[in-house]
Amino acid sequence: MTVGIRRPWEAVDYDELVRAFPPPPEYFERTWLAPPDEIERVQLGRLRERALAAARVPFFERRWAEAGFDPRTIRHLADLERVPSYTVHDIRTSIERQPPWGDYQAVTPADARREPLRVYMSGGTTGKSRPTFYTQWDREVGAVLTARALYMQGIRPGDVVLNSWAYGTHNGAFSFDEALHRWLNCVVLTTSTGNVTSSERQVELAIEYEATAILTTGDYLLRLADVARSMGYDPKADFNIRALPNIGDRGLLESTFGAECFNSYGFHEVQWVSVECPAHDGLHIFEDAFVVQIVDPETGEPLPDGELGSICITELYKTGSPQFRYNIMDLSSLYPRQQCACGSWLRKMAPFAGRGDNMVKLRGVNVWPEAVGELALAVPGVSRDWFVRAVRDENRDELIVTVTSERDPSEFDALHTAVEERLKERLGVRIRAEVVPPGALDAWTEVNVAPKLKRFRDER
Ligand SMILES: [Zn+2]
Repeated sequence: MTVGIRRPWEAVDYDELVRAFPPPPEYFERTWLAPPDEIERVQLGRLRERALAAARVPFFERRWAEAGFDPRTIRHLADLERVPSYTVHDIRTSIERQPPWGDYQAVTPADARREPLRVYMSGGTTGKSRPTFYTQWDREVGAVLTARALYMQGIRPGDVVLNSWAYGTHNGAFSFDEALHRWLNCVVLTTSTGNVTSSERQVELAIEYEATAILTTGDYLLRLADVARSMGYDPKADFNIRALPNIGDRGLLESTFGAECFNSYGFHEVQWVSVECPAHDGLHIFEDAFVVQIVDPETGEPLPDGELGSICITELYKTGSPQFRYNIMDLSSLYPRQQCACGSWLRKMAPFAGRGDNMVKLRGVNVWPEAVGELALAVPGVSRDWFVRAVRDENRDELIVTVTSERDPSEFDALHTAVEERLKERLGVRIRAEVVPPGALDAWTEVNVAPKLKRFRDER
């Protein structure tokens, strides 16, 4: 025996873990239905503990001292508003200050002798990768949270599930894998993307092994349906799909596979944050693990319930790399706390509504690329895909939206005029449109590669 090395079962007290963060199905019988005072009492207790732990991390210690915030002074949940928030830019600065890990982590590779550690990267397509350390505890609780979302989406113990996310340096595929394997007792076929296991093979595996879910984007799942049809299968009758992706064309997914869609929200540093319930009116936040606030994307000031702004998240469970008022710049809004038709008092948030840092000022008008995409998609003849670029043209900022169409290319000219007219009419500002054949945007949107589709690029 090597002195000092702790094994997973020594690093984590599993009885304590399932009491503090119940996995499904028991989560939905108990914690999901907790009364408001109990929800907020648990949150406050964990928030105070987490603040003291984060204060020992140089990144937070420095920023909090500069802002005059003392972590011992948290008495109420509202005190969280006194804590300075930070964005990905601050994380990048932290990495430059102390490469390659940054000074925002609570552990270093040397701590792997003390307990099993994992590291996953985000970013990296433009600029340096941003690593996040996860302790054994973080991996397990994160997997429990992901398991809750997958359970609500319809996945059950004993199911065979295809994991078609890219097994790479980022957390995506692994977070699903661990949730399915360790906390949902599912049998995972680790197909990865179409580049690793061909789409035809994925269709064959899903049908042969009666998979109840294929974890991927809605767009890729619909493509698999097309591939299945071309192989002579009927997606509804021949697949055994019971759970659908949280992103994509909801109506088309439901009609193609005959299953119900449940939206959910999460990101790789904290895993799964919220999931829609059968009432389909907002996403319940796992409040034993998170405090979610909505802030102004430009100023970071908290916004009232119902207003669209940037998600500012504080997790209440991690020990490897704290996220304490992380302004993630994903857009959403909060519902006031009230009892839902499903019986839960957990606060709800609106589904992901785009990126807060993508707003472009075009001749004095604030334009969100997501709004441009939505409007363009409503033009008859335009297919599901879109991408917006901001460019500098003769000293003016311009937006170009590229959409796809399955129509004959001879009709593209008329189509691009129709898109431009609609955008001008609805947004009051001219936006250029381009039309390309289906699939031509895949490299830009990074479909099948990234957990969230890329929809915007600033080329100015
Ligand atoms: Zn509900």
